[in-house]
Amino acid sequence: MNSEYIFICLKNIEEKITKHKDEIEKLDQEIGDGDHIFNILRGLKEALSLKDELKSESTDVVFKKIGMKIMTTVGGSSGALFSTLLIGMSKKYNSDLNDLKNLTNMFSEGVESMKNRGKSDIGEKTMLDVLIPVAIKLKEIKDVKDMKIIANQIKKIAEKGMLTTKDMVATKGRASFLGERAKGHIDPGARSSQLAIEAICENIIG
Ligand code: ADP
Ligand code: MG
Repeated sequence: MNSEYIFICLKNIEEKITKHKDEIEKLDQEIGDGDHIFNILRGLKEALSLKDELKSESTDVVFKKIGMKIMTTVGGSSGALFSTLLIGMSKKYNSDLNDLKNLTNMFSEGVESMKNRGKSDIGEKTMLDVLIPVAIKLKEIKDVKDMKIIANQIKKIAEKGMLTTKDMVATKGRASFLGERAKGHIDPGARSSQLAIEAICENIIG
C-alpha cells in the first residue's frame, strides 16, 4: 500500500458518496442546513486534485497536505473536522500503511484529534459514532492474516455505528438545536463517514 493507493481509495469514496448524493443531502436538510454533501464532494475533489503532485510522496506527507488543502478550501464543520482527522493521522506514527498496527495507530490518533477539535465523543449523534467504534475495533484485532475478513468486520461496525445515530438526540453541531426533534433521523456526517469506510473496505474485500 502506498500513496497512490490513497488516491485510489479517495476515488472509490467519491464514487460511493456520489451514488448516495441525494440521500446525504436530504439527511442534512432534515437536521442541519443541507450543505454537507456539497462540503464532502468539494473536499474529495480538492484532495483528488493533488494526485499528480503527491503520488510519489510518503503517505504521512500525503495525509498532511490533503488535510491542509481541505482546511483551506472546504467549509462547514465537516471541512474543519476531516482536515483535523487527516493532519492528526500524519503526525505521530510512521507511514507504513501495509502494517495494520501502524495504520490503526495513525487512524486512532486522527480520531483523537477530531474529538479534541470538535470537543465531542461517542453518543453525540455525529460522524464520531462511526469513526470511534471503527478505531476501537481496529485496536482489538490480533490476527491479521486475512484482510478480507477484517475489512468485512470493519464495514459492519461502521454500519452499526451509523444506524445508532438515528435514535439519538444531538448534543453537538447544528442538529443539537433541534432537541428531541432530531430523533428518527440518521446523522448526515455519520452516513458519509460510514460510506467512505464502506468504499475502502469493499476495495479490500474485492
Ligand atoms: P455544518 O454543520 O457546519 O453545516 P456539515 O454539514 O458539513 O457542517 O457537517 C455536519 C456534520 O458534522 C454533522 O452531521 C456531524 O456528523 C458533524 N459534526 C458537527 N459538529 C461536530 C462535532 N463537534 N464533532 C464531531 N462531528 C461534528
Ligand atoms: Mg451542514
